[in-house]
Amino acid sequence: MADLMASIDKSQLSIAFTHRVLCTRCGTCVAACPTNAISLDKELYPVLNPQACTECGLCARVCPGGRVSFHDLNQLVFGRPDDAGSFDGHLQSTYVGYAADPRIRRAGSGGGVITALLWDLLSREQVDGCIVTRMYPQKPWQGQVYIARNYQELLQSQQSKYIIIPVNAILQHIKSLKGKYAIVALPCQIHGLRLLMREEKPLARKIHVILGLFCASSLQPFVAAEMLSCRGIQKRAIKDFQFRGGEWPGKIRAVLKNGQIKHLHYSNFKDGAINYLTYLYSPERCQTCIDGSAEFADIAVSDAWTRDEYGNYLFNSHSKLIVRTDKGVAVMTDVIAAGNLIADDVTRNGSYQTHKLHTQKKGLKAPLRVARLLREGKVAPIYDRSAPAASWRESWGERMESAIMRLGRSRATRWPLFNFLTSRYGIIFVKIRQFIKSRKYRKK
Ligand SMILES: Cc1cc2nc3c(=O)[nH]c(=O)nc-3n(C[C@H](O)[C@H](O)[C@H](O)COP(=O)(O)OP(=O)(O)OC[C@H]3O[C@@H](n4cnc5c(N)ncnc54)[C@H](O)[C@@H]3O)c2cc1C
Ligand code: SF4
Ligand code: SF4
Ligand code: SF4
Repeated sequence: MADLMASIDKSQLSIAFTHRVLCTRCGTCVAACPTNAISLDKELYPVLNPQACTECGLCARVCPGGRVSFHDLNQLVFGRPDDAGSFDGHLQSTYVGYAADPRIRRAGSGGGVITALLWDLLSREQVDGCIVTRMYPQKPWQGQVYIARNYQELLQSQQSKYIIIPVNAILQHIKSLKGKYAIVALPCQIHGLRLLMREEKPLARKIHVILGLFCASSLQPFVAAEMLSCRGIQKRAIKDFQFRGGEWPGKIRAVLKNGQIKHLHYSNFKDGAINYLTYLYSPERCQTCIDGSAEFADIAVSDAWTRDEYGNYLFNSHSKLIVRTDKGVAVMTDVIAAGNLIADDVTRNGSYQTHKLHTQKKGLKAPLRVARLLREGKVAPIYDRSAPAASWRESWGERMESAIMRLGRSRATRWPLFNFLTSRYGIIFVKIRQFIKSRKYRKK
């Protein structure tokens, strides 16, 4: 096997086989391979069966891990050049809204908008199924991609699972199915999907609409298991793991088989745990990813974190939608006309532009990190967008952030740190953070 592997021309293969650290674990190469030579290992990285590989090069052509051409993707999707000056990418309109169905709204991470869109498409028979994710029913500390074909199955997909799930791998199965599908995916998954659709027209015709999620970072797939072990909860004792369970904006919690709910950190999701998690559990490839707003989706959806002058959230249980393509416009017009989505058009209101933290992370720090790594001769994804000019403070900020994230690479440093920060002893840090934030708003 090792000899066979050595004889294969690696330039014909997707990035996982030369620079594993650059793999986003999107699963596109699994779906692309005509001979089923690629499968996924326990950590969700691709593995090759060299006996089945014909060195056709398709997996390399659709792989978004090592190289992303914003020029090519913009031409492909919008027929226009990259608008690198706008962090939000090409858009036709922006909305803030929520699902009209209270059950869908309540169960959503934000306003249940994604599920409202999908239910509208399914109930009006515009699609035969929706490619979505859930926590694996038998192992709720792991994520799973599946096809939802009715209301109940769609409800199971609600909530953000802030972990890597190789969504595009299921497209291998979609190729053999009849019908049209909607897909919900993260920015890197959409990069791979668009490239695969360019290569495989019959598959492209089956994808009715692409709904994208904003993404500051995903987390390592083992984060849920590690959080449970931090709190001394047996994996086999849980029936569900929720990243944003309960009242909006939600908390990370485990639902035990005996019905008990165990909160796994102090404070709510936004003001507490997610900050620590994205420092300690962010995969290296996410730290160098510069598409934060699903630039190549038909409709991109994010939380609506906008605050008022006192720092209170304006839009509890709402989501923001960026409608990018003509297909997106048609889907949006229909869902509003059918009464399945309540949404305000806020296209001309500047306060709905992407929030500052997101712009800083993906628009500034990640491109600075990529440029620095390449300067230092290290491995990083190649983009055809250059890093913005930065002050010494911003460059220093990027280095500090990278140093903290390096602590997350080893369980020996990550585990005690995370354990401390999410315990009652870590409450002081959350309180300090909340105090600094409230002062910022009071000063305005
Ligand atoms: C990893 C990740 C990072 C995110 N980062 C940000 C961010 O930085 N800023 C921001 O504003 N919003 C971010 N979001 C999006 C946000 O959390 C909400 O998912 C979004 O606002 C939609 O909420 P909703 O109530 O409309 O969706 P719901 O009705 O709750 O539906 C959620 C949909 O998301 C899909 N989904 C959930 N997890 C995954 C996953 N891991 N991979 C692929 N699809 C998934 C589900 O299949 C479902 O269709 C992120 C989401 C994820 C999964
Ligand atoms: S057969 Fe083609 S697509 Fe499959 S692994 Fe080999 S080079 Fe990649
Ligand atoms: S296509 Fe996706 S999963 Fe496959 S190697 Fe590239 S980045 Fe990794
Ligand atoms: S940060 Fe980028 S690479 Fe990581 S999951 Fe999100 S879109 Fe993919």
